[in-house]
Amino acid sequence: MSSEPTIFTRILRGDVPGDIVAETERVFAITDIHPQAPVHVLVIPKTEQYRDVTELAAGDPSLLAEMVEVARGIAQERSNGEFRLVFNTGEGAGQTVFHVHAHVLAGELEEKSLI
Ligand code: 5GP
Repeated sequence: MSSEPTIFTRILRGDVPGDIVAETERVFAITDIHPQAPVHVLVIPKTEQYRDVTELAAGDPSLLAEMVEVARGIAQERSNGEFRLVFNTGEGAGQTVFHVHAHVLAGELEEKSLI
């Protein structure tokens, strides 16, 4: 793990502005700064120990399940309950922040756009 906190940790701590729209004991959610859909929220574990969803699934599946539950609640509150959940995994797949996060996309989605 790098010694610098990730951008998401800095937002969680209040060191960088961010719009926290949901929070549980272990998970928080922010609106994406570059929204790709009418609803585009990032669901993020408070711990930054997992770089991507494969590490998270192996290390703490219940935390992954909690993220899915938070995503469900966001889609329910902000749209009609239907949503796309995207985990970019690896640089070549478009991952830019190596602190696992789920993109929750909802509303009128472009059929082919995965993010
Ligand atoms: P990734 O490309 O790693 O799957 O997703 C990272 C996401 O974080 C991108 O969609 C990007 O727009 C978002 N992001 C990066 N920096 C910030 C920031 O400072 N604030 C917010 N709210 N989102 C950010």
